[in-house]
Amino acid sequence: MKAAPEAQRRLLDLQAVDTTLAQLAHRRKSLPELAEIDAVAREISALEDERVRAQVVVDDLERDIARLEKDIDQVRQRKDKDQKRLEAGGSLREVEGLQHEMATLKRRQSELEDAELELMEQTETASATLAEVQGRIAAAVERRSDAERRRDDALGEIAKELEFKTQARVPLAADLPDDLVTLYEKIRSETGMGAALFYAGRCGACRIELYGADLNRVKSAPKDDVVRCEECRRIMVRTAESGL
Ligand SMILES: [Zn+2]
Repeated sequence: MKAAPEAQRRLLDLQAVDTTLAQLAHRRKSLPELAEIDAVAREISALEDERVRAQVVVDDLERDIARLEKDIDQVRQRKDKDQKRLEAGGSLREVEGLQHEMATLKRRQSELEDAELELMEQTETASATLAEVQGRIAAAVERRSDAERRRDDALGEIAKELEFKTQARVPLAADLPDDLVTLYEKIRSETGMGAALFYAGRCGACRIELYGADLNRVKSAPKDDVVRCEECRRIMVRTAESGL
């Protein structure tokens, strides 16, 4: 293929823009914020499980306390009833029976109240654990929002640069001969790079160094020949900087 040396030189400008576009696309996919957001999301998910478990402990304790309070209330009512009957008087045997039952009820109430106190202390600890987990979730959610904000800022910047470079590419490609651009695009789609400067005896793409007859082939090729690397097949652009 033939192409004016000036057109070949401008192919390098197009390649530079395409390299930047590829780097921007890569940056967009590999933002550190993306990994950070994933990690925080996993952390929040684990904390949510922990929160559910802590809530279950609190709920169970509160249910047990409610049950105990009902029991205590029943004992208290029974005691009040006995007290009234005692005040109403009766036979000695009845009085003794009531006194004995009241003593038993008093012991029972005391036991239940001790148990309730114990559960209340456990509830205090369980509630503190729950609050601590909730605090950690709130902090993690805050960190996630912060990372999301930074991600969105970075994506916005990348989108702007992509748009700018995409616009800049249009006249560059339009000014080049169609067949040269077609060949360049074909190589670029296959290898990620279409053209590179031939410099210091090396292909600028794969860096292979040419000697002897291979170097001579590049040197002696007419200036408007489109020379390709035997190794990587990219277009080797020869300019005044090539040192030939
Ligand atoms: Zn090469």
